[in-house]
Amino acid sequence: MQTLPPGSTIGILGGGQLGRMLSVAAAQLGYRCHIYASHANSVAAEVSAQFTQGLDEDIPTLTGFADCCDVITFEFENVPVDPLHRIESCAPLHPPIAALDIAQNRIAEKNFAREHGGTTAPFAEVSDRSSLDKAIAAIGAPAILKTIRMGYDGKGQSRIQPGDDLDSHWDAVAQQPCVAEGFVTFSHEFSVILVRGQDGEFRFWDTPHNVHEDGILAHSVAPAPTEILEQQDAARGLAARMADAMDYVGVLTCEFFATRDGPVFNEMAPRVHNSGHWTVEGAITSQFENHIRAICGLPLGDTGLTAKKVEMHNLIGAQADDWQRLLSDGTNHLHLYGKGESRPGRKMGHVTKLHF
Ligand code: ADP
Ligand code: MG
Repeated sequence: MQTLPPGSTIGILGGGQLGRMLSVAAAQLGYRCHIYASHANSVAAEVSAQFTQGLDEDIPTLTGFADCCDVITFEFENVPVDPLHRIESCAPLHPPIAALDIAQNRIAEKNFAREHGGTTAPFAEVSDRSSLDKAIAAIGAPAILKTIRMGYDGKGQSRIQPGDDLDSHWDAVAQQPCVAEGFVTFSHEFSVILVRGQDGEFRFWDTPHNVHEDGILAHSVAPAPTEILEQQDAARGLAARMADAMDYVGVLTCEFFATRDGPVFNEMAPRVHNSGHWTVEGAITSQFENHIRAICGLPLGDTGLTAKKVEMHNLIGAQADDWQRLLSDGTNHLHLYGKGESRPGRKMGHVTKLHF
């Protein structure tokens, strides 16, 4: 295990709120963070020791950044993989590039889960308009059409009902290569959030029950209800096998549907995750701190709950404008990401509440 002492520099690719919260956790442990992002106004850079503005494909700038770092991680799973191979020799990179490669492609991700014993929604690849007809004929409707790459927060998706005109759905995904997925009938959604250390040790946080609205996470609650807990072992087992297969280091999140036939794997995020934001106050060690501990080769922290029940509510768009009312309840833990303008569907912050 390679231990990186406090005072070292952690490079973070991506400049959003996940980078911001990672940077705060790293600072608490005495590390310096160096953010690499394409936009000048990075909410992660605002709380970090150093910032380099550059495009992922700008190899000289990226290499200059990497040469200043003792370890590199990412907070955004759509970092292109090819440039990362160019900086591998500059500093250790955790989680592994292989995890990004898989998570960036919804088909590779589903196949990977299946190879490790997981169940996924039935799916078919859609590369052009005629293969959309074939895919829907094969898997039926309702179905969801999702771009294979770059989707997040329900973006790049179109929900197909029986009898729909498929032309409009094809246009809705900008005629991009897609996966068509059968609509899964589920009672609940949940996520397995784990951290894997450099020595292969695992820790799992309590499994949150996640509720999405319009494809965006609205809230997460832990501990989860029985219907989820009954499926937790199977879901954790799959996530752990996938993490071992990738020789993963850091926090990994896998999203699942709880169905009558057991857990159905939806997708994985090779990073800290919105459904784990409650761990900042609701767990002894947060997902952000344990990610930093893992990539720096430090002992992992306890992931136990700090309260009987913990809930996290996202502040989407104008909901964050309500910050004064939220602060008037002194038991609310308010997090605002410093993103100036609130646009519809934009994650602006979250509120965590502990119940003792
Ligand atoms: P994103 O990358 O945008 O998070 P997801 O695949 O997680 O994309 O989809 C967002 C949400 O849409 C899910 O959390 C779930 O609520 C719903 N959803 C996605 N796929 C399916 C499916 N096959 N069946 C039922 N609901 C789904
Ligand atoms: Mg998702």
